[in-house]
Amino acid sequence: MTGKEFQPVLLFALITLTVLSGCEKGKTGVHPDFNITKRDITSVTDKLPHDIRSNIIKNPQCFLEYMERILNEPVDYAVLVDKKHALSSSYIPPDLVNIREYGLRTTKKYLRIRRIVIPDLTAMAEAARLQGVELVIGSSYRSYAYQKQLYSYYVRTEGKEKADKESARPGHSQHQLGTTMDFSPIDNKFIETKGGKWLDKYAWKYGFSLSYPPDSESITGYKYEPWHYRYVGRDVSFIIKRYFDGKQQLFLEFYDKTKEYFKKSLRK
Ligand SMILES: [Zn+2]
Repeated sequence: MTGKEFQPVLLFALITLTVLSGCEKGKTGVHPDFNITKRDITSVTDKLPHDIRSNIIKNPQCFLEYMERILNEPVDYAVLVDKKHALSSSYIPPDLVNIREYGLRTTKKYLRIRRIVIPDLTAMAEAARLQGVELVIGSSYRSYAYQKQLYSYYVRTEGKEKADKESARPGHSQHQLGTTMDFSPIDNKFIETKGGKWLDKYAWKYGFSLSYPPDSESITGYKYEPWHYRYVGRDVSFIIKRYFDGKQQLFLEFYDKTKEYFKKSLRK
């Protein structure tokens, strides 16, 4: 490498290092791309649990850096679908593909997912494989009509109250998004398997987030589901991990309420 080539490379490395460390070392200023003051940050986060809020207030620059990235994504990965927020019965994701065609392991021949999930899903499966862990997908996209059948089945066999803790009503399932999957075995013991442990530790790095974590029934309305992951993209999964204590539901609710405000506050 000549000296002339070396300089730009070194400069790039320095800038990258500065940007990355700037996020973790807790710069206290607010972000230059947003027309937002410290007081605004304090007020927009006032409904959040204390620890999450103080994390954001302590390091708003990094938080806003990731918010900007999320707002600029061509796809909204953070659509709120929960007990109170439903997808339309006619919503079908535009780019469903058969998972097996991409060399990923599934328990059924025909399981579909949105194509936008494939690059990170294959990267994650490959990283796990290199550490001796085989990830197997047991369920993924479910249509509105299929979810309707499934929910009725649970109600018939277990009664309404139990069904509502374990199954979503039609329109209210993250599986209809086409970005959500259940890893196999779909069982409480999944967390004790190699795959369950691996995902618990590393899935967020690839943009996957555990939707129904332990001890969160009062927030999510669902029992702990160690097998159920939603792809939210790497920026959203970073924010959930770094600022929201791994509570996807809390970030999705926050984003749903504040995204228009943050969009308007972006300097053009
Ligand atoms: Zn699921």
